[in-house]
Amino acid sequence: MGMTKRLILKPGRDKALLRRHPWVFSGAIQQVLGDPEAGETVLVQDAHGRPLGQASFSPASQIRARMWSWNPEEAIDGRFFEQRLEQALRLRQNLPERDQADAWRLVHGESDGLPGLIVDQYADVLSVQLLSAGVEHWRDILLELLVKLFQPTAAIERSDADVRTLEGLPVRTGRLDGPDLSEPVKISEHGLSFLVDIPGGHKTGFYLDQRANRLMVRAFAQGKNVLDCFSYTGGFAINALYGGAASVLAVDTSAQALDAAAAHVALNHLDAARIAWQQGDVFQVLRELRDRGRTFDMVILDPPKFAPTAAQAQKAARGYKDINMLGMKLLSPGGRLMTFSCSGGVDRALFQKIVAGAALDAGVHARILHWLSQAPDHPVALNFPEGEYLKGLVVAVD
Ligand code: SAH
Repeated sequence: MGMTKRLILKPGRDKALLRRHPWVFSGAIQQVLGDPEAGETVLVQDAHGRPLGQASFSPASQIRARMWSWNPEEAIDGRFFEQRLEQALRLRQNLPERDQADAWRLVHGESDGLPGLIVDQYADVLSVQLLSAGVEHWRDILLELLVKLFQPTAAIERSDADVRTLEGLPVRTGRLDGPDLSEPVKISEHGLSFLVDIPGGHKTGFYLDQRANRLMVRAFAQGKNVLDCFSYTGGFAINALYGGAASVLAVDTSAQALDAAAAHVALNHLDAARIAWQQGDVFQVLRELRDRGRTFDMVILDPPKFAPTAAQAQKAARGYKDINMLGMKLLSPGGRLMTFSCSGGVDRALFQKIVAGAALDAGVHARILHWLSQAPDHPVALNFPEGEYLKGLVVAVD
């Protein structure tokens, strides 16, 4: 095919690629031939010259290339991307809960064969993250295809995640297609409505990954006293209320997030008398609640990423242990802790160990009832275990 731009791997450094892991680290590369530009497609070869597939080149990143295809011959072009997007769409269309919500992750990066591309649908608006040099290179074509396949009324870019900096790309946000959004977008999920601030909210606007876990909170809530820590715009708190909670206390440092959560109470005609808000630092608020002798039937802990990478895991572990220990101490007998970590640097095994240590320190007998993860519109390719970033446990305390 006359491709002259190539990456040649060091001897013995083809193992991950042979298992179809999609990342080529800089340390595995012997030689870069043909002077590829950022985002350009390169042929990847092992030390003997055998072709392994095609990748996008990313000169600034430690992840120096991300695989597009394991077929060295296939054309990487508009048709290729159209097929990948259609595949991603098909997966979501086949989800049994498809009709229960109108907000979904349509494209989940590597796990959908499109490294660096995140596309979330909020009703008829798309929120898009282009997080690798590869997808940045194909930005115009990808956008054209997204508009063709999904026909949104508007598309907004949220390429302001930290990883973009690691790729040597500037932060980019704003309108991609259609009008500017003057108001939040109203989405529906399992009978509830939420307002999503796409340009200004966290990530692409809302924590779609917690959808299935919100339902679990709802199912447990009847007659219970619920504490929702790191509540953001109240995804869990609102579901607890809808599920018949006797009381809900939602805690977050952000007054703006709590205002948005309060608006969700009114939007869904829920009983505002059964929900209270506390603006504050969860680490402190948990201690205050303990000192005041408060107890809850359910404590939810959904903190922000304490450890984006493995390097920060130790410090993160202390933070997780602290809040989990305090959370368990606040539980009434038979109560449940629903606890999460979305840190890439803390894997499921480590997280479980931390929670076990917290139970020991809290002096409670605790049993795991459920292992939780991200909703199925955030799939994890088996050849890309890093795709599983959200880990959760439901723990019952005697
Ligand atoms: N549970 C939410 C998502 C949580 S995102 C949902 O399902 O939608 C993390 C939230 O934690 C953010 O809203 C952020 O404002 C808040 N936060 C971060 N550090 C905090 C702290 N130390 N104390 C209280 N809230 C904090």
